[in-house]
Amino acid sequence: MNNSSLVARDLAVLWHPCTQMKDHDPRELENLPMIPVKSARGVWLEDFDGNRYLDAISSWWVNLFGHANPTINQALKDQLDTLEHVLLGGFTHETAVLLAEQLVAVTPPGLDKCFYADNGSSAVEIALKMSFHFWLNQGQPKKTRFITLENSYHGETLGALAVGDTPLYKKTYAPLLMEVITVPSPDCYYREPGESWEAYCIRRFADMENTLARHADSVCAVIVEPLVQCAGGMRMYHPVYLEMLREACTRYGVHLIADEIAVGFGRTGSLFACEQAAISPDFMCLSKGLTGGYLPLSAVLTTETVYRAFYDDYRNLTGFLHSHSYTGNALGCRAALATLDLFRQQDVLAGNRRLAASMANAAAGFADHPHVGEVRQTGMILAIELVKDKPAREAFPWRERRGLKVYRHALSQGVLLRPLGNVVYFMPPYVITEQEIALMIEVAWQGIQYAVRD
Ligand code: PMP
Repeated sequence: MNNSSLVARDLAVLWHPCTQMKDHDPRELENLPMIPVKSARGVWLEDFDGNRYLDAISSWWVNLFGHANPTINQALKDQLDTLEHVLLGGFTHETAVLLAEQLVAVTPPGLDKCFYADNGSSAVEIALKMSFHFWLNQGQPKKTRFITLENSYHGETLGALAVGDTPLYKKTYAPLLMEVITVPSPDCYYREPGESWEAYCIRRFADMENTLARHADSVCAVIVEPLVQCAGGMRMYHPVYLEMLREACTRYGVHLIADEIAVGFGRTGSLFACEQAAISPDFMCLSKGLTGGYLPLSAVLTTETVYRAFYDDYRNLTGFLHSHSYTGNALGCRAALATLDLFRQQDVLAGNRRLAASMANAAAGFADHPHVGEVRQTGMILAIELVKDKPAREAFPWRERRGLKVYRHALSQGVLLRPLGNVVYFMPPYVITEQEIALMIEVAWQGIQYAVRD
């Protein structure tokens, strides 16, 4: 088997996610190579022709401790010999219970109940349904709407898509989606020159305050991606916004849903991004890094208050009758327990602080590049915003697909970067070394040089 034989078989039968398949047609002039991965270890992927690629984006932000991690591998082998899966309706198993206990312990105070699903979008759907249903059970049927931030992303199923605001994914399906209330984002890319992130976010909060004041009676919840709007181009904001949002949601009687699917498990510098604002949301959605990047699993953590509003005689039909076949899958839960073990065995957050500082140092020169509008960082996420005109911060037209040029060049140099439009970013696994950081950033620099040429 070699790369081209597997790619030919792939293109005959497979339809890939988030892809215009024609881009991969070998007869197309601008053909994008499909990379068939044979094996992976640590931060490295290897294809069938022996080429290696540094996974600088943790395989869509899921991988935390490297591919083929020995601790997670062993845990899964052990689990496989005991129990692979059992339904979670009317049945339970120790791995699911242990994980729920540990998630309750490590998430912010007050999140005392854990509901499992098997992917991030489903976790968002669950949080939305639970919030609406909570208010219904409380005798408040008029609360049916959700508030979201501009440029947010919460997944691709219809409910999750509706509460997101990324036109590229959402616009086509608009006729199918529930209406939401969209509030300007605290995205600090748009702050005034000289304005601090904190001052900008405080200023931006006025829109949220006004919206809550006007609509609280009809609103179930506000949903946010704490600190970093990842799919929206790694746009970042200050924790003060979350602090103010928590206070206002409580004051107006509206739930706060923290979608930590991408930012949870150490990406932003703390185990959960909400910690940096010292807040507890009413719902916290987790997935991606939850299993260290091994298996599809998600969890919605919520409060005893929410749980109690559903706890009733069956005949009153107030229960949360939502289910997915693979809820609480034993292999997924075991991978998650092994991931949490790794956080306990090593001081991962201290290690990440060192790695984040190395990334900042290595990328410092990008700020002076004539086509870089901003270099921003929150913990282990560092993003570089490419612009056509630096003083005016004018974006490159999307049709020029500059990011794709960076992607293509980086692949040819053995680094997997997958820019989001004009935003080149790094979100590597936590086992990356200093040398690998240097390589990743050098290749990004070359890729940008290549991509901004006319
Ligand atoms: N929320 C956020 C913040 C995400 O980044 C993502 C995935 N990129 C999702 C939800 C959806 O997760 P999934 O792809 O597992 O459905």
